[in-house]
Amino acid sequence: LTRQKKKPGYHVVHIAAEMAPVAKVGGLGDVVTGLGRALQKKGHLVEIILPKYDCMDYSRIKNLKVLDVELYSYFDGQTHKNKIWLGIVEGLPVYFIEPHHPAKFFWRGQFYGENDDFKRFTYFCRAALEFLLQSGKRPDMIHTHDWQTAVVAPLYWDIYVPQGLDSARLAFTCHNFEYQGVDAPGALASCGLNVPQLHRPDRMQDNFAHDRVNLLKGGIVFSNVVTTVSPTYAQEVRSPEGGRGLHLTLAQHLKKFFGVLNGIDDEAWNPATDPLLEYQFSADDLSGKYANKAALRARLGLAPADASEDKPLVGCITRLVPQKGVHLIRHSIYRTLECGGQFILLGSSPVPNIQREFEGIARDFEQHPHIRLILKYDEALSHSIYAASDMFVIPSIFEPCGLTQMIAMRYGSIPIVRKTGGLNDSVFDADDSSYPEAKKNGFTFTAPNEGGLNFALDRAMSYYKTDRDWWQRLVSRAMKMDYSWNHSADEYIELYRQCLERASSRF
Ligand code: ADP
Repeated sequence: LTRQKKKPGYHVVHIAAEMAPVAKVGGLGDVVTGLGRALQKKGHLVEIILPKYDCMDYSRIKNLKVLDVELYSYFDGQTHKNKIWLGIVEGLPVYFIEPHHPAKFFWRGQFYGENDDFKRFTYFCRAALEFLLQSGKRPDMIHTHDWQTAVVAPLYWDIYVPQGLDSARLAFTCHNFEYQGVDAPGALASCGLNVPQLHRPDRMQDNFAHDRVNLLKGGIVFSNVVTTVSPTYAQEVRSPEGGRGLHLTLAQHLKKFFGVLNGIDDEAWNPATDPLLEYQFSADDLSGKYANKAALRARLGLAPADASEDKPLVGCITRLVPQKGVHLIRHSIYRTLECGGQFILLGSSPVPNIQREFEGIARDFEQHPHIRLILKYDEALSHSIYAASDMFVIPSIFEPCGLTQMIAMRYGSIPIVRKTGGLNDSVFDADDSSYPEAKKNGFTFTAPNEGGLNFALDRAMSYYKTDRDWWQRLVSRAMKMDYSWNHSADEYIELYRQCLERASSRF
């Protein structure tokens, strides 16, 4: 496998369950597109393989066409026909796999949350590798993401390398150790894997429930390089608590495990050119930012600035799940009000009782001049909130990387975050004298409780109210920080390079 390439570029195939903006649930979707584009700009050939979901945003796919091939892939003792579609998403070629399986795996009106998710995605992974084999592609790297595509790794070595699909090394990125893809061993047999060989403590046996198999663990064990999405989270997951049971597995594979901070797509997220904003703006001229603030207040029925003061506007855009610190998000609404600010929450929850709770709060504040809760997923509105807000709260209990703090900074909204995971690697407290001035870009706290949040939010409010010049300098500095993919993409390329240059022994 060691090779001297004349061309500098690698051929990288990402196999993933999400890709922004066509099929995005969270940050994983942004990463596939952002990293993919950054690698492409640096001269690498990047292709993506995704399921063809019925609920994708088809308007964002260019030149979508069905290929004139019939791909048969194995599942549950039979082969099934798949159609393959090719389209361009954000400049990247994407192959969409449409299974003709009676279970209509991707014809469900949602990306995840189905009872048979394990089956849906193991089917997809098998079909994706079958497609690579049949199409004669010879990628240098196959890069998979999260539990949904982790099974590519054992499938590759056990089933596809023996058939000749053997050009690639495998990179696996875990975006969140909370979700692992655990099921009865028999479920693994469906995609053709040898269960007795894999249901072992050093392979895919779940570390808690020994009668189960764990897909995420398989991705870690069988990939050549494993990454997670920030250096701090890479440390945190090595503890029993952070690794959700996989810390021992990571300990055994530490040499190939790295934390690489995600970037954001700085072309898609650029307040100077963003077509979704009413007024574009930049770090050197914030007037458009204030115009967006006034416009959004008017649109949402919040009170405008009065002659004596312009209240700080606090934004929060998030999935409402326990990881995000929902109790602290709720508290920050009330605390902002107490401190004389305004608050806009854009979020939705897959957890029914959390969704109900926030619907109740939304009703309480329906006509309120300073609070608005919008409980849905709305990409366009998210841009307006990043642009209009002065501050942005992210009180996560854990946060593998977090993209919203980086987007907020790029749009001049100062992050107020709990010091965990990628938040700890990207937000540096304005009052912490151990950081150089040039690095300070937000407010942080440690204790995952109301006192902790108050400590950071109150300081931000106080600076905003008492020293507007200082505040504006902080805003300009945060906006100028480089959180693009440029640097992180170089780190991935270096990991790919090391991986490809290592001796051809498997592990
Ligand atoms: P996670 O992946 O855990 O959801 P991240 O911070 O990594 O969190 O990424 C969240 C992404 O999803 C950001 O791009 C954010 O703007 C977007 N997002 C989250 N909730 C919403 C929503 N309700 N409407 C629009 N965009 C949202």
